[in-house]
Amino acid sequence: MRFALSGKNKIDATPGAHGRCPGCDTEMIAKCGSVRVHHWAHKGTRHCDQWWESETAWHRQWKSAFPTDWQEVIIRKSDKWHIADIETANGDVIEFQHSHIDPYELYAREEFYGPRMIWVVDGTRLKRDHETFSREIASQMLNQKHDGTVEFNPRSAQIAKRWDASNRLVYLDFGDNNLWRISVGMRGPWQKHAKKFEKQKFIDTILAQSTSLDDFY
Ligand SMILES: [Zn+2]
Repeated sequence: MRFALSGKNKIDATPGAHGRCPGCDTEMIAKCGSVRVHHWAHKGTRHCDQWWESETAWHRQWKSAFPTDWQEVIIRKSDKWHIADIETANGDVIEFQHSHIDPYELYAREEFYGPRMIWVVDGTRLKRDHETFSREIASQMLNQKHDGTVEFNPRSAQIAKRWDASNRLVYLDFGDNNLWRISVGMRGPWQKHAKKFEKQKFIDTILAQSTSLDDFY
């Protein structure tokens, strides 16, 4: 995790620092090696939140675009709690997902965080994803709608197919200046909609919090 707690303060992992997990309140270890981003780890190998994935530079870069208060927020619902990557001041949740996620966990996470949640997915994890997605979108450009939406077939773009089970908005990040939002098409599951957004605009809109995430739904 990026932060541990020192009293009530969120602190970064620095050599020799002491902090506790905001989730389970155990003492954490500051990992400050040269390979991975500096982070806090539990003493055992397991994270207290089973949904937590180990943090990559990609996660860190995304989270750092938002205020510290919004990063790694404990969300409690009845007897359960989880750590959201981002919870905005308006209560919207953003999850940054690098690893593969199975449909059961996907469903559980979407249920837990509720409808006001969006995914940002690392599209650079598998080599061919960007290529197949771009090729499919390019082949559908003639059918592009006025608002920039492109209807495409998720069977021709594996990354979209893998996110088929999602009932939230999914933004694919292929590592350039844009995000591609994918959502279910009107004519059935064999058709999805894709729309390109400037990454910085996406961040600015969330930071502005003027209309909450309504702009994205
Ligand atoms: Zn913990």
